[in-house]
Amino acid sequence: MDYKLNRYPRLPEELICITTYFDDEDEYFNQFGEHHYAVDMAYTSRWQGGTKYVRAADDGVIKWRQDATGTAANALRIEHYGLIDGKTVHTRYFHMSEIAKGMTVGKEVKKGEIIGIEGRTGNATGPHLHFEFLVCPTDYKFKSAEVYKYAVDPLKYCFLYPDQKIGYDPKNQVRTLLNEYEKLPLEKGSRFVCLRSNALYYRSAPETVAETKLGFLPEGGYAASYTVENGGYEWVSFELEGKEVFAAVYNGLSYIEAPIDYEKLYNEELLKNKELAEQNEVLKAEAEAAKASLSEMTEALKVLRKY
Ligand SMILES: [Zn+2]
Repeated sequence: MDYKLNRYPRLPEELICITTYFDDEDEYFNQFGEHHYAVDMAYTSRWQGGTKYVRAADDGVIKWRQDATGTAANALRIEHYGLIDGKTVHTRYFHMSEIAKGMTVGKEVKKGEIIGIEGRTGNATGPHLHFEFLVCPTDYKFKSAEVYKYAVDPLKYCFLYPDQKIGYDPKNQVRTLLNEYEKLPLEKGSRFVCLRSNALYYRSAPETVAETKLGFLPEGGYAASYTVENGGYEWVSFELEGKEVFAAVYNGLSYIEAPIDYEKLYNEELLKNKELAEQNEVLKAEAEAAKASLSEMTEALKVLRKY
């Protein structure tokens, strides 16, 4: 069954390297003799090295925390309200090397907030994140033994945002997901652009002259700020390694309006309105004061005229 989302949860890492797909019968079932109701992603050692953060897929409340002992992994469960009408979504994150400070039961988290660091605690053959997405009845009392009933493929419900990249995705499911993004109904007022690119030049300026070529654009999503027309092409401007660069919108590259940060935009808008209202108050007071001093002057003038 496909559910309609009211918001756009994120995949929980910055670079998405999938090692095991959801209920991957071929690989997982043969190896471990059980179903796999999650996706596994492994940023850490195999592809990049270093420490990588695990982030909350969406706004929610931490409902369960497990600290690693023996075969039990460091793990969290977050409950998300209002993501799917008439359902409560739970996400679970396993094997973290550390749970971030303050992530205790009852704590509210925001989408994208760091909740831990990818690791290999518990029953894991290597460092990775085991990520579950569960669509449960409202007011459902969560039972681990019933995960098989409610788990859905996280790649169908979580999205890749412009600040995230695809690292390793042998079955191209995340790439498909990125394409799916383009079909989403978008939030009003969204201004950000997500690029999808396949081995395409990016340039220092929106021109096709050889000197503007900087190199090939790695495949992935990027946040772009605006577009310009030049030489018969539409150019998208975005930031890469701290520099503004341009890429032409033609074969191999597409862009979409992505609903990222609409909350931030909304809050900025609210703040702006509040500031405007305050300014308005100040202006009104000034106008009153000016009016008062004008009538005082008029009175004074009248008095003067008497003499
Ligand atoms: Zn797993």
